[in-house]
Amino acid sequence: GTRMKGSRFAWSDRATQDAMQLRQQLEHALPLAIAGEEIVPYFEQQVDLASGRLEGFEVLARWEHPVQGMIGPDGFIAIAEETGLIADLSLSIMAQAFQAARDWDPTLSLSVNISPVQLRDAWLAQKIIKVLTETGFPASRLEVEITERALFDNLPLTQSILGSLKNQGIRIALDDFGTGYSSLAHLRALPFDRIKIDRSFVQLVNRDADSATIVDTIVRMGESLNLPITAEGVEDATIAARLLALGCAKAQGWHFGRPLPIAGARRMLAERRLL
Ligand code: C2E
Ligand code: CA
Ligand code: CA
Ligand code: CA
Repeated sequence: GTRMKGSRFAWSDRATQDAMQLRQQLEHALPLAIAGEEIVPYFEQQVDLASGRLEGFEVLARWEHPVQGMIGPDGFIAIAEETGLIADLSLSIMAQAFQAARDWDPTLSLSVNISPVQLRDAWLAQKIIKVLTETGFPASRLEVEITERALFDNLPLTQSILGSLKNQGIRIALDDFGTGYSSLAHLRALPFDRIKIDRSFVQLVNRDADSATIVDTIVRMGESLNLPITAEGVEDATIAARLLALGCAKAQGWHFGRPLPIAGARRMLAERRLL
């Protein structure tokens, strides 16, 4: 009756309050967490499906919070975007990742995620290139990942930023392909080097005929446009096998390993003689 309803609302108010309080705490702590490198890079393997060869890593941000424990990007990227801290956060993650990876095998590349907010900064390319120079990581080993949602905010500015990155030899990947808007127009307007198929399609490739058709179509479109395709979110061997059969060359996901911190990535590379 009314009492049940009342207590349910009281509970959800409490939950909302707790969430808001946590958000405020994180927002307050974020500047020092960035400066103190509490927000660190984790490394997710990217592999060639046919040979199993490790080609590089996607860099994923993690907040090693002294009280809350490990916080994933969904817990702080939006806060950083809304409070103007995303650029500092992103450049800090890049600096740490580049510094770690510059000594790894030179065949290994890094992919970093760029927020749509950062694409409003006309100096973005220069800032990334500065971090490359300071850390001694070669531009030719870097790929930046941009989501479709970001692209039509300001197409001329996006074109100029991506042009500057490409002039330095940095590659550009279109992330989460299939989940945004106007994908095909973007492919023509912007100089992509790779398309990443969103994991929502990849994960259903053996269970849902429509998802298999979508993956197949993206792979064949990549072939005709001469754009390499990476499938993300590969969780088991049957998905990997199906992707290979469909002609998808590259993949990443938990099947190949969970994202590793710097020390864990170093250990794994040492075992494979890739240090
Ligand atoms: P994303 O770019 O699509 O990154 C892939 C996400 O999928 C990662 O989540 C990764 O841990 C997760 N994942 C990888 N393999 C599997 C799998 O086999 N199964 C499943 N279920 N999930 C898998 P994560 O690390 O939580 O990152 C979430 C999103 O946060 C990323 O999505 C990316 O958009 C964003 N992000 C992460 N790091 C950064 C960063 O440094 N800067 C910015 N702007 N965004 C970041
Ligand atoms: Ca990504
Ligand atoms: Ca993605
Ligand atoms: Ca995604």
